[in-house]
Amino acid sequence: MTINLPLQAPSPAGLIWQTVRNEQAKSPEARAEILADPGFGNHFTDHMVDVCWSEKGGWHRPRVTPYGPISLDPAAAVLHYAQEVFEGMKAYRHADGSIRTFRPYENAARMQRSARRLALPELPSEIFIESLRKLVEVDAEWVPGAPETSLYLRPFMFAKEAFLGVRPAKKVAYYVIASPAAAYFPGGVAPVNIWLSTQYARAGKGGTGAAKTGGNYASSLLPQAEAHEKGCQQVAFLDDAGNLEELGGMNVVIVKRDGTLVTPESASILEGITRDSILQLAADRGHTVERRALSIDEWRSGVESGDIVGAFACGTAAVVVPIGRLLAEDFEIVHTHSEASDLALSLREELTDIQYGRREDRHGWMLRLDA
Ligand SMILES: *Cc1c(COP(=O)(O)O)cnc(C)c1O
Repeated sequence: MTINLPLQAPSPAGLIWQTVRNEQAKSPEARAEILADPGFGNHFTDHMVDVCWSEKGGWHRPRVTPYGPISLDPAAAVLHYAQEVFEGMKAYRHADGSIRTFRPYENAARMQRSARRLALPELPSEIFIESLRKLVEVDAEWVPGAPETSLYLRPFMFAKEAFLGVRPAKKVAYYVIASPAAAYFPGGVAPVNIWLSTQYARAGKGGTGAAKTGGNYASSLLPQAEAHEKGCQQVAFLDDAGNLEELGGMNVVIVKRDGTLVTPESASILEGITRDSILQLAADRGHTVERRALSIDEWRSGVESGDIVGAFACGTAAVVVPIGRLLAEDFEIVHTHSEASDLALSLREELTDIQYGRREDRHGWMLRLDA
């Protein structure tokens, strides 16, 4: 099998961006109405980014076009074999009006790792960052300014070659779309209840669990529906060794009585940038951070003995959310101590303060997109 290396891509400096303005862009009034109550993932900005890749030409024809339907051949490989990867990040409006995003080079690098696993070409970080800048440049007015709101950015890449044979596609498309997002917890952060799925897994040994790819989400939908039936908002998965993995869209961290934070390490986990950042902030405060295999038995007996006082989930959309209880087929873990959720909420506040420019960015995590 030939694996297409990014070396074949022309230098990003050689790419000339084209912008086609949307003549049917929303009026300022219509946009204001949407931004007043955007929800999550319901509304999209006036433009999108579209970059092509081909085996022969590498990355080419980068452009910003009016947001709208994509025309795809029914034989496009992504529709049959799910050769696709994506990213998720946010653009934040700061008090001075500037627009910034959080650790975008981490998203760029993760998309490259995901692409490698899915036999897709790696998009150079420079093009990834430029694509965010170009979109935010034309759709700057779509970045809301109300507290805890943001413009969610969704870069994604898929196999568009019309070919039903099974091999890596020779034609690929990279897009970025953007969607204004309301505060995730308008009434204050509420703990989530989690259903532990033992019948289903989101990933397996040697599988695609560590890649941000749609297939992992497709396989999580049925167990997620089961979680809802059990009265839980989220589902937790185990890895192939039977250890705690993650929630399918958020990572998990356990809080010990002595302040130690433990997060599962496993080859099938999608490594969240939120988790990495929260653990960095905790380490800065003097907390011990352990990344290692974590069994459900350890969690359960730790709560019984009082050694484990809580847990939280984290990811870009919700940032940090305390876990109220973990429900399984034949047992339940209930967190009753408030100190763990206080810690989770204070780390959440510190991180969002950095993201919204209310606190010093001592790690240099923020990148300005509009200048
Ligand atoms: C995106 C994602 C996360 C969270 O990652 P962040 O970078 O923190 O947003 C966790 N798990 C899965 C499966 C994901 O796709």
